[in-house]
Amino acid sequence: MSQIELHSVSKAFAGVQVIHDVDLKVNTGELVVFVGPSGCGKSTLLRMIAGLEEITAGELEIGGRNMTEAEPSDRGIAMVFQSYALYPHMSVADNMGFNLRMSRRPRAEIAEKVAKAAEILQLTELLDRKPAALSGGQRQRVAIGRAIVRVPQVFLFDEPLSNLDAELRVQTRVEIAKLHAQLGNTMIYVTHDQTEAMTPANRIVVLRAGRVEQVGKPVDLYEDPDNAFVAGFIGSPR
Ligand code: ADP
Ligand code: MG
Repeated sequence: MSQIELHSVSKAFAGVQVIHDVDLKVNTGELVVFVGPSGCGKSTLLRMIAGLEEITAGELEIGGRNMTEAEPSDRGIAMVFQSYALYPHMSVADNMGFNLRMSRRPRAEIAEKVAKAAEILQLTELLDRKPAALSGGQRQRVAIGRAIVRVPQVFLFDEPLSNLDAELRVQTRVEIAKLHAQLGNTMIYVTHDQTEAMTPANRIVVLRAGRVEQVGKPVDLYEDPDNAFVAGFIGSPR
């Protein structure tokens, strides 16, 4: 069953088309990676799915419902961005519970959900700290925690590792894969880094200049790329 369907989705900014007729299905519980060079339209596609950017043409379905024009808050989606701004004056726990407080959930429920997310992300010991007293990797985990407390049906990650150093990138990548295994929800993960794309993905979508070049399992793209671009970007050296 598919959780997300894009039907001939296009996007233009001030008359300049940057996404061209993208058709795509993401299955329920699947972790799909969008990969492609900088400027190919990964963030724009993700932002259209999240409802942060209007769809110029085409249709978007989420959970079998037409969501082309739905409010972001009605889409059952949480997004973790490239830059993971935390509120500096709030503790880790308050940062993680922020979205729940905004939707006026009872305090006991917020505390419980924050505690559970903190456990998954190994932040339990850090709940009383302020962001300034955390490492980059810990801050990124708090940002992920803020997104997962609501346990949305769909998670969107836009280059969540780009501000981290090499070692933390590997760690966080592993954590995201674990998170996917534990929560079992649908995830789309965007990166420009081919190595990063291969590890956690059930399927990879290779994008180039606003078009889908190939969709497939990592091993299939690696061993049997459709064209020279995919081969150059992901394929095995031959
Ligand atoms: P990626 O995330 O793959 O690096 P983006 O989705 O950010 O690519 O950008 C795709 C294209 O759309 C680029 O050519 C970029 O310059 C353009 N673009 C993105 N956002 C805007 C915007 N708000 N206004 C105008 N052009 C934009
Ligand atoms: Mg981007």
